[in-house]
Amino acid sequence: MQSKVKQHFELPLYLGMITPVGWLERVPSYKEMQENLASKDLTNYGFLGYPVLMASDILLYQPKFVPVGQDQQAHVELTREVARRFNQFYKLDGREVLPEPQVLLTPSPKLPGTDGRKMSKSYGNTIELTDPEPVVRKKLKTMVTDPARVRRTDPGDPDKCPVGDLHKLFSTPETLAKVYEGCRSAGIGCIECKGWAADALVQVLAPIQERRAGYGEADVKAILKDGSDLAFVRAEETMVQVRAAMRLPA
Ligand code: SF4
Repeated sequence: MQSKVKQHFELPLYLGMITPVGWLERVPSYKEMQENLASKDLTNYGFLGYPVLMASDILLYQPKFVPVGQDQQAHVELTREVARRFNQFYKLDGREVLPEPQVLLTPSPKLPGTDGRKMSKSYGNTIELTDPEPVVRKKLKTMVTDPARVRRTDPGDPDKCPVGDLHKLFSTPETLAKVYEGCRSAGIGCIECKGWAADALVQVLAPIQERRAGYGEADVKAILKDGSDLAFVRAEETMVQVRAAMRLPA
Protein backbone atom coordinates (compact mmCIF):
# COMPACT_ATOMS: atom_id res chain seq x y z
CA MET A 1 0.00 0.00 0.00
CA GLN A 2 1.89 3.00 -1.27
CA SER A 3 0.09 5.36 1.09
CA LYS A 4 1.83 3.52 3.95
CA VAL A 5 5.27 3.94 2.39
CA LYS A 6 6.11 7.64 2.66
CA GLN A 7 9.21 7.27 0.50
CA HIS A 8 6.84 7.13 -2.49
CA PHE A 9 6.13 10.82 -1.87
CA GLU A 10 9.71 11.83 -1.11
CA LEU A 11 11.65 10.40 -4.05
CA PRO A 12 9.42 11.95 -6.76
CA LEU A 13 9.98 15.35 -5.21
CA TYR A 14 13.75 15.00 -5.64
CA LEU A 15 13.56 13.37 -9.07
CA GLY A 16 11.11 16.06 -10.21
CA MET A 17 13.86 18.64 -9.63
CA ILE A 18 16.11 17.06 -12.25
CA THR A 19 13.53 15.88 -14.84
CA PRO A 20 13.17 18.24 -17.82
CA VAL A 21 9.56 19.12 -18.73
CA GLY A 22 10.27 18.22 -22.37
CA TRP A 23 10.88 14.59 -21.40
CA LEU A 24 7.47 14.39 -19.75
CA GLU A 25 5.64 16.01 -22.66
CA ARG A 26 7.16 13.42 -24.99
CA VAL A 27 5.80 10.40 -23.05
CA PRO A 28 3.23 8.88 -25.48
CA SER A 29 0.53 8.39 -22.83
CA TYR A 30 0.58 12.15 -22.06
CA LYS A 31 -0.96 13.09 -25.42
CA GLU A 32 -2.90 9.84 -25.75
CA MET A 33 -4.73 10.27 -22.43
CA GLN A 34 -5.47 13.92 -23.16
CA GLU A 35 -7.09 12.90 -26.44
CA ASN A 36 -8.93 9.90 -25.00
CA LEU A 37 -10.17 11.67 -21.87
CA ALA A 38 -11.05 14.99 -23.49
CA SER A 39 -13.86 15.58 -20.97
CA LYS A 40 -11.35 15.71 -18.08
CA ASP A 41 -9.09 18.65 -17.39
CA LEU A 42 -5.63 17.09 -17.51
CA THR A 43 -3.72 20.34 -17.84
CA ASN A 44 -2.19 20.10 -14.39
CA TYR A 45 1.19 19.44 -12.85
CA GLY A 46 0.12 16.13 -11.29
CA PHE A 47 -0.81 14.60 -14.64
CA LEU A 48 2.31 15.86 -16.39
CA GLY A 49 4.48 14.64 -13.53
CA TYR A 50 2.84 11.24 -13.26
CA PRO A 51 5.74 9.45 -15.05
CA VAL A 52 8.11 10.80 -12.37
CA LEU A 53 5.90 9.14 -9.75
CA MET A 54 6.06 5.89 -11.71
CA ALA A 55 9.83 6.21 -12.07
CA SER A 56 10.08 6.63 -8.30
CA ASP A 57 7.78 3.67 -7.69
CA ILE A 58 10.25 1.56 -9.65
CA LEU A 59 13.59 3.05 -8.59
CA LEU A 60 12.80 2.92 -4.86
CA TYR A 61 13.27 -0.85 -5.04
CA GLN A 62 16.33 -0.80 -7.33
CA PRO A 63 15.11 -3.65 -9.57
CA LYS A 64 17.08 -5.13 -12.44
CA PHE A 65 13.90 -5.79 -14.47
CA VAL A 66 10.37 -4.39 -14.66
CA PRO A 67 7.71 -6.82 -15.95
CA VAL A 68 5.37 -4.61 -18.00
CA GLY A 69 3.09 -4.60 -21.02
CA GLN A 70 4.15 -3.04 -24.30
CA ASP A 71 2.24 0.18 -23.55
CA GLN A 72 4.37 0.77 -20.46
CA GLN A 73 7.71 0.48 -22.22
CA ALA A 74 7.98 4.25 -22.65
CA HIS A 75 7.55 4.73 -18.89
CA VAL A 76 10.38 2.34 -18.12
CA GLU A 77 12.51 4.08 -20.74
CA LEU A 78 11.84 7.41 -19.02
CA THR A 79 12.67 5.78 -15.68
CA ARG A 80 16.04 4.76 -17.09
CA GLU A 81 16.70 8.30 -18.32
CA VAL A 82 15.76 9.79 -14.94
CA ALA A 83 18.02 7.29 -13.14
CA ARG A 84 20.88 8.07 -15.53
CA ARG A 85 20.47 11.79 -14.94
CA PHE A 86 20.37 11.33 -11.18
CA ASN A 87 23.52 9.24 -11.33
CA GLN A 88 25.25 11.92 -13.40
CA PHE A 89 24.42 14.59 -10.83
CA TYR A 90 24.86 12.63 -7.62
CA LYS A 91 27.17 9.82 -6.58
CA LEU A 92 27.74 8.08 -3.28
CA ASP A 93 31.40 7.40 -2.54
CA GLY A 94 32.03 7.56 -6.28
CA ARG A 95 29.40 4.98 -7.22
CA GLU A 96 25.96 5.21 -8.84
CA VAL A 97 22.95 4.92 -6.54
CA LEU A 98 20.01 4.20 -8.87
CA PRO A 99 20.54 1.26 -11.26
CA GLU A 100 18.80 1.53 -14.65
CA PRO A 101 16.13 -1.20 -14.85
CA GLN A 102 15.43 -3.20 -18.00
CA VAL A 103 12.00 -3.89 -19.51
CA LEU A 104 10.86 -7.50 -19.16
CA LEU A 105 8.17 -8.32 -21.73
CA THR A 106 6.25 -11.57 -21.91
CA PRO A 107 5.65 -13.33 -25.26
CA SER A 108 2.20 -11.65 -25.28
CA PRO A 109 3.06 -8.11 -24.33
CA LYS A 110 -0.37 -6.50 -24.80
CA LEU A 111 -3.77 -7.08 -23.28
CA PRO A 112 -6.50 -5.06 -25.00
CA GLY A 113 -9.66 -3.83 -23.31
CA THR A 114 -13.15 -4.64 -24.54
CA ASP A 115 -13.13 -1.62 -26.86
CA GLY A 116 -9.80 -2.62 -28.41
CA ARG A 117 -7.87 0.19 -26.75
CA LYS A 118 -5.38 -0.64 -24.03
CA MET A 119 -7.14 -2.04 -20.98
CA SER A 120 -7.47 0.76 -18.46
CA LYS A 121 -9.83 1.62 -15.64
CA SER A 122 -9.84 5.20 -16.96
CA TYR A 123 -11.38 3.91 -20.21
CA GLY A 124 -14.00 1.71 -18.52
CA ASN A 125 -13.02 -1.21 -20.76
CA THR A 126 -11.60 -3.66 -18.22
CA ILE A 127 -12.34 -7.29 -17.48
CA GLU A 128 -11.80 -7.58 -13.74
CA LEU A 129 -10.15 -10.54 -12.03
CA THR A 130 -13.23 -10.52 -9.77
CA ASP A 131 -15.83 -10.48 -12.58
CA PRO A 132 -18.23 -13.44 -12.23
CA GLU A 133 -18.70 -15.69 -15.24
CA PRO A 134 -21.91 -14.03 -16.57
CA VAL A 135 -20.23 -10.63 -16.47
CA VAL A 136 -17.16 -11.93 -18.32
CA ARG A 137 -19.40 -13.45 -20.99
CA LYS A 138 -21.46 -10.28 -21.33
CA LYS A 139 -18.37 -8.10 -21.67
CA LEU A 140 -16.88 -10.41 -24.28
CA LYS A 141 -20.12 -10.34 -26.29
CA THR A 142 -19.80 -6.62 -26.92
CA MET A 143 -16.05 -6.69 -27.47
CA VAL A 144 -14.86 -5.13 -30.73
CA THR A 145 -13.46 -7.43 -33.43
CA ASP A 146 -11.45 -7.19 -36.64
CA PRO A 147 -13.20 -4.33 -38.51
CA ALA A 148 -12.75 -6.25 -41.78
CA ARG A 149 -15.41 -8.77 -40.64
CA VAL A 150 -18.46 -6.66 -41.34
CA ARG A 151 -20.59 -9.64 -42.39
CA ARG A 152 -20.50 -13.21 -41.14
CA THR A 153 -19.19 -14.29 -44.55
CA ASP A 154 -16.25 -11.84 -44.51
CA PRO A 155 -12.94 -13.44 -43.56
CA GLY A 156 -10.96 -11.81 -40.72
CA ASP A 157 -7.58 -11.93 -39.09
CA PRO A 158 -7.08 -12.78 -35.38
CA ASP A 159 -3.85 -10.75 -35.48
CA LYS A 160 -5.95 -7.63 -36.10
CA CYS A 161 -8.63 -8.47 -33.54
CA PRO A 162 -8.59 -7.78 -29.79
CA VAL A 163 -10.46 -11.05 -29.19
CA GLY A 164 -7.61 -12.76 -31.05
CA ASP A 165 -5.19 -11.18 -28.56
CA LEU A 166 -7.16 -12.71 -25.69
CA HIS A 167 -7.07 -16.11 -27.39
CA LYS A 168 -3.29 -15.86 -27.76
CA LEU A 169 -2.99 -15.24 -24.05
CA PHE A 170 -5.53 -17.59 -22.58
CA SER A 171 -6.64 -20.29 -25.04
CA THR A 172 -5.07 -23.68 -25.65
CA PRO A 173 -2.98 -24.14 -28.82
CA GLU A 174 -5.82 -26.30 -30.24
CA THR A 175 -8.42 -23.57 -29.75
CA LEU A 176 -6.04 -20.94 -31.10
CA ALA A 177 -5.52 -23.03 -34.25
CA LYS A 178 -9.31 -23.30 -34.68
CA VAL A 179 -9.62 -19.53 -34.27
CA TYR A 180 -7.00 -18.77 -36.93
CA GLU A 181 -8.45 -21.29 -39.35
CA GLY A 182 -12.08 -20.41 -38.75
CA CYS A 183 -11.61 -16.64 -38.75
CA ARG A 184 -9.48 -16.50 -41.90
CA SER A 185 -11.88 -18.78 -43.82
CA ALA A 186 -15.03 -17.20 -42.34
CA GLY A 187 -15.82 -20.72 -41.13
CA ILE A 188 -16.75 -19.47 -37.65
CA GLY A 189 -18.70 -16.45 -36.51
CA CYS A 190 -17.43 -13.88 -34.06
CA ILE A 191 -20.07 -14.83 -31.48
CA GLU A 192 -18.83 -18.42 -31.41
CA CYS A 193 -15.22 -17.26 -31.28
CA LYS A 194 -15.96 -14.89 -28.41
CA GLY A 195 -17.65 -17.76 -26.56
CA TRP A 196 -14.40 -19.75 -26.75
CA ALA A 197 -12.43 -16.75 -25.48
CA ALA A 198 -14.87 -16.40 -22.58
CA ASP A 199 -14.49 -20.14 -21.79
CA ALA A 200 -10.72 -19.73 -21.61
CA LEU A 201 -10.91 -16.59 -19.48
CA VAL A 202 -13.38 -18.10 -17.05
CA GLN A 203 -11.05 -21.08 -16.61
CA VAL A 204 -8.18 -18.75 -15.75
CA LEU A 205 -10.24 -16.59 -13.40
CA ALA A 206 -12.08 -19.34 -11.51
CA PRO A 207 -9.15 -20.58 -9.36
CA ILE A 208 -8.13 -16.98 -8.61
CA GLN A 209 -11.64 -16.12 -7.47
CA GLU A 210 -11.84 -19.32 -5.43
CA ARG A 211 -8.62 -18.52 -3.58
CA ARG A 212 -9.77 -14.94 -3.04
CA ALA A 213 -13.03 -16.07 -1.49
CA GLY A 214 -11.03 -17.82 1.25
CA TYR A 215 -9.69 -14.54 2.61
CA GLY A 216 -11.62 -12.38 5.05
CA GLU A 217 -11.13 -8.66 5.59
CA ALA A 218 -8.73 -9.20 8.51
CA ASP A 219 -6.54 -11.53 6.39
CA VAL A 220 -6.37 -8.98 3.62
CA LYS A 221 -5.44 -6.19 6.02
CA ALA A 222 -2.70 -8.37 7.51
CA ILE A 223 -1.30 -9.19 4.06
CA LEU A 224 -1.31 -5.53 3.11
CA LYS A 225 0.39 -4.56 6.34
CA ASP A 226 3.13 -7.18 5.93
CA GLY A 227 3.73 -6.07 2.35
CA SER A 228 3.79 -2.39 3.30
CA ASP A 229 6.22 -3.01 6.17
CA LEU A 230 8.56 -4.94 3.91
CA ALA A 231 8.31 -2.29 1.19
CA PHE A 232 8.99 0.46 3.74
CA VAL A 233 12.26 -1.17 4.80
CA ARG A 234 13.42 -1.73 1.22
CA ALA A 235 12.43 1.78 0.12
CA GLU A 236 14.18 3.35 3.09
CA GLU A 237 17.41 1.51 2.21
CA THR A 238 17.32 3.29 -1.15
CA MET A 239 16.37 6.65 0.33
CA VAL A 240 19.25 6.55 2.81
CA GLN A 241 21.61 6.32 -0.18
CA VAL A 242 19.71 8.94 -2.20
CA ARG A 243 19.72 11.47 0.64
CA ALA A 244 23.40 10.84 1.36
CA ALA A 245 24.29 11.26 -2.33
CA MET A 246 22.30 14.53 -2.46
CA ARG A 247 23.83 15.64 0.84
CA LEU A 248 20.41 15.99 2.41
CA PRO A 249 19.85 15.42 6.12
CA ALA A 250 19.01 11.79 6.96
S1 SF4 B 1 -13.65 -14.69 -35.55
FE1 SF4 B 1 -12.68 -14.25 -33.58
S2 SF4 B 1 -10.64 -13.52 -34.09
FE2 SF4 B 1 -11.85 -13.42 -35.97
S3 SF4 B 1 -12.65 -11.31 -36.01
FE3 SF4 B 1 -14.22 -12.60 -35.03
S4 SF4 B 1 -13.78 -12.44 -32.85
FE4 SF4 B 1 -11.96 -11.74 -33.95
